[in-house]
Amino acid sequence: MIEDVYVRNRHHKTHNAGWLRAAVLGANDGLVATASLMIGVAAAAPTAGLTVTGIAAIAAGAMSMAVGEYISVQSQSDIEESDRQMEIEHLKLDPVGEEEELTQIYIERGLPRELAAQVSRIMHEKDALEAHLRDELGQFEHTKARPVQASIASAIAYTSGGVIPLFGALLWNTTSKSVGIITFTLVGLSLTGAISSKLSGSGMAKTILRVVIGGSLGMAITAGIGGLVHLSGI
Ligand SMILES: [Zn+2]
Repeated sequence: MIEDVYVRNRHHKTHNAGWLRAAVLGANDGLVATASLMIGVAAAAPTAGLTVTGIAAIAAGAMSMAVGEYISVQSQSDIEESDRQMEIEHLKLDPVGEEEELTQIYIERGLPRELAAQVSRIMHEKDALEAHLRDELGQFEHTKARPVQASIASAIAYTSGGVIPLFGALLWNTTSKSVGIITFTLVGLSLTGAISSKLSGSGMAKTILRVVIGGSLGMAITAGIGGLVHLSGI
């Protein structure tokens, strides 16, 4: 009984997955890219303006994310729209064939032929296009591609990650700003790891560890490159 209640109270995560993944990835990108760039610059040119570097990194990264996301989601949206137009045309040209197509889909999903034909007929009477978009093409209102929203959301997510290392540099009151950047970034990465694990239902420790190790590698490698640049005296 207790288990029943537990299972019933757990919510499906699939509806969250799209925007959640985008938001967490965006924040992670902002964190790692901004922190890496600032640390790389600090290692290469210890007297360089880290605040300016951080702000430039956030601005450039957020714009790049917004444009990239817009292009990718717009192409998804174009595909959905052309599928939709094709379906409208097919329904106009061959409604009987389309009804049979839907019947076959329901049979494949396990309905007996007679029931499948009945469901298909009712669906066609109600809203044939909607039934075909949903059951044939897998298009749902809540998973529809929305390029502008996706692009704004990813820029915001990136910026919210990027300001964390920037604050690390601003608030750290010692000469070694890199320590502040790294500390804030590791806390930020743990936070995005925890949020992502909480909302996706995956293991907390494993997810945090994965995000922190990935981010640390990014920072370590750019710091190494910056150090080499500094040593070479470019
Ligand atoms: Zn169809």
